[in-house]
Parts: sequence; structure tokens; C-alpha cells
Amino acid sequence: MPIPEPQFDDLYRELLLDHMRHPRNRGALENPTHRLDGVNPVCGDEVHIEVAVGDSEVRDIAFSGLGCSISQSSASMLTENVKGKKLQDIARLRDHFQAMLVDGADPAPDLGDLEAFQGVARFPVRVKCAMLPWKVLDEVIEGAAPAPQGDRQ
Ligand code: ZN
Repeated sequence: MPIPEPQFDDLYRELLLDHMRHPRNRGALENPTHRLDGVNPVCGDEVHIEVAVGDSEVRDIAFSGLGCSISQSSASMLTENVKGKKLQDIARLRDHFQAMLVDGADPAPDLGDLEAFQGVARFPVRVKCAMLPWKVLDEVIEGAAPAPQGDRQ
């Protein structure tokens, strides 16, 4: 049974294609604090994220992976949207992204261009593709929630 393809409006389709053709922050970091992997077996997507966290903030991030255009453009867009942000803000972004995709909520204003994925919401199989990079990042978001004094290097 073929996986259903969501329809995007033209603007959003162009945006996703652009991220697919010219992925942002693709590659690896020299000194990551975390190396994270995730797979979406339903679709065969793989996402690997390296992130440098300091002071409860994502200082730098890079991704690599393979799979469908939704998973890979989502990973690219994720890196753009979390770089330089506080973990608590990223957690809120993640919650809003998930609410839009899983609960069908209207996109929250802070989602910005991540709103492009709204068209995925009606396709549960594709939701897994779009959420994959965010799930991969979960470990960092949840693990570093309350930053104590003397942040680790
Ligand atoms: Zn996929």
C-alpha cells in the first residue's frame, strides 16, 4: 500500500523543496555535546543530529540523514529554528509543532515557517516523518531542562 502524499500549497511546497535541495546545517560538528539518532521504520527515514549545548542554549547544531523529503526538510528547518535558542523555548516550539501536527491545532505564531508542515497533519504516517527530527532532539530538550549552576562544558 503506497504511503499517501499530503498536498501542500505552492508556497509551502517551494519552501520544503528548497530545504530538500539546499539543506541548512547539514554535516557534523567538531565538538558536539550530544550525538543523537532516530529512525522512522514506517517510512525508512533516518536522522542523525549533533548539537553543542551550553548555558541551556543550543549553540550549534548539524544534521545528517536520509529518507523522504518531509523528514529531511523537517530536520533542515529544525536546525534553523533552534540554533541559538534556549532549550525551554525549543521545548515550547516542539510542543506547538506537535500540537499542529498531531492535534490539528492552529499553528502558534512562534512556529514561523514551520507552519509549512501543517498540510501533513491529516496524514498520520507523514506526521511521523515530520516529527522524527524533533523526537531525536527530545533527549536534549528534556535532559537539560533546569540548568543548575556550573553548566557542564
Ligand atoms: Zn518519511
